[in-house]
Amino acid sequence: VERKKRAAAVIEDVERNLATPTALLRSIADAMVVEMERGLRGDIHACLKMLISYVDNLPTGDEHGLFYALDLGGTNFRVLRVQLGGREKRVVKQQYDEVSIPPHLMVGTSMELFDFIAAALAKFVDTEGDDFHLPEGRQRELGFTFSFPVHQTSISSGTLIKWTKGFSINGAVGEDVVGELSRAMERQGLDMKVTALVNDTVGTLAGGRYMDNDVVAAVILGTGTNAAYVEHANAIPKWTGLLPRSGNMVINTEWGSFKSDKLPLSEYDKAMDFESLNPGEQIYEKMISGMYLGEIVRRILLKLAHDASLFGDVVPPKLEQPFILRTPDMSAMHHDSSHDLKILGAKLKDIVGVADTSLEVRYITRHICDIVAERGARLAAAGIYSILKKIGRDKVPSDGSKLPRTVVALDGGLYEHYKKFSSCLEATLQDLLGEEASSSVVAKLANDGSGIGAALLAASHSQFG
Ligand code: ADP
Ligand code: MG
Repeated sequence: VERKKRAAAVIEDVERNLATPTALLRSIADAMVVEMERGLRGDIHACLKMLISYVDNLPTGDEHGLFYALDLGGTNFRVLRVQLGGREKRVVKQQYDEVSIPPHLMVGTSMELFDFIAAALAKFVDTEGDDFHLPEGRQRELGFTFSFPVHQTSISSGTLIKWTKGFSINGAVGEDVVGELSRAMERQGLDMKVTALVNDTVGTLAGGRYMDNDVVAAVILGTGTNAAYVEHANAIPKWTGLLPRSGNMVINTEWGSFKSDKLPLSEYDKAMDFESLNPGEQIYEKMISGMYLGEIVRRILLKLAHDASLFGDVVPPKLEQPFILRTPDMSAMHHDSSHDLKILGAKLKDIVGVADTSLEVRYITRHICDIVAERGARLAAAGIYSILKKIGRDKVPSDGSKLPRTVVALDGGLYEHYKKFSSCLEATLQDLLGEEASSSVVAKLANDGSGIGAALLAASHSQFG
C-alpha cells in the first residue's frame, strides 16, 4: 500500500509537470512567433535561426531529366535517383537505397563520414539501369539533403553551424558541407555535381509542393524535429540581397532549438539535457522528437523503480542505462490494446529484463508512455500553429473571404509510425485552429518527400539550365 501511494505521488507529479493545457500551447505558439520574427531580423540572440534557404521557387512540375539525391539526416542515409518526365509524365521512375550509418562514424572525423557516404553513393550510381537517361555529355547532378543547421551562402553551398541529434564530429563546424562531399566524391572517382544543398524540411516542402500545390510548410518529426515554410521575401529584414522575383523565400526555422520558460520542462528533461552531447541546446526538440521520447519514459520509469519499487525490490540494472528504451519500443508498448497488455509485458522483459510484471505495472508503464507522447505531439502542434499564425493562415480572414486551402507536409519516422502521436498532433492542431479554420488546413504525410524534393531542386538549379 505504501508503494502504491509512492507510485501515485510520482505519477501525479509527472502528470502535473508535463501537462500542456490548450491555453499554455497558445502562449507557446505566441512566443514562437516572437522568436521567428527575431530570427528573421537577424537578432543573434533569437533562439530560432530562421535560415535563408536560397530556395525562392518551389517545383512547378515541369522539371525533367535524371537527377540524384542524397539524404543525410540521422540514423540512416538514403540515396535516390529519379527520372523526371515534365508536366505530363511527372516521376517516370525512381529508385532508392538506404544505408544505416555506423555509430562510430557519427562521432569520428568528417572525412571518414563523407568517404563512407560517397562510397555508398558511387556504388548506387553503378547500378543505374537503362531506364534512366542522361543526355550525352552531361554530368550527373545531385541534390544534397543535409538535416543539420547550415548557414547557406547560395543554393549549392553552406557551412555547418552545429551538429545535433547525436552527431558530434570535430572540425566540421564552419566547413562547407558541399565542398566536403564533393571532395569525397572525387576521391571515389565519382563524376557528379551538387547543384542544390537543402535542409530536409526544405526538401520535404519542395517534394510536398510537387505533389500538392497548396503545401505552404513542411515539418519533420523523426530522430529530431524541424520545420520550413514559405515566407514573403519582404518580411525578412536580414535579407539584404535583391528581392527574388517570386517574392517568396523558403525559411528553415530550425525550430528544434526553440526555448522558452513557457515550455513544460520537468526534472527528467533537465537531467537528460544535462547529460546530452549538446546541453542547453535543442530544448524543444528534446521534448518532442524520436531520439528522446523513449529516453524520457525510461527516466520516469527509473524514478518509479527507485521511489516506488515499480519493478520489485531491486532496481533493474538495465533500466539505469541511458537510451536503452527506444521510441519505437515505447510506441509498441503504448499501442498495446490487448486485455493483459501482453506485448507491453514482453517489451519490458526484453528491454528492462523484468520477466513477470503485474497488470498494474503494465498499465502504469503505458500511462507514462501516453503522458510523454501526448506532451510531444501537443507541443509539435503548437509549433505548426505558430507557423500558420506567422503567415496568416490560422484563421478565417476578417474581410469575409475564405481561408485558402492550406497544406502542411509532414514526414519522419516518428510521425509516420507512431499513430497515437500523429493522431494527437492532428486533434490538437484542430483544437488550436477552431472548427472553421481547421476545415481549410490539412496535415499530410509526405512520405520520403525530402529525397524527391532535393532531386527536384537539383533539377531546377541544374547547371545545364
Ligand atoms: P531521420 O530523422 O533520422 O532522418 P526518420 O525520419 O526515418 O529518420 O526517423 C527515424 C526516427 O523515427 C527514429 O529515430 C525513431 O525515433 C522514430 N521512429 C521510427 N519508427 C518508429 C516507430 N515505430 N514508433 C515511433 N517512432 C519511430
Ligand atoms: Mg530524415
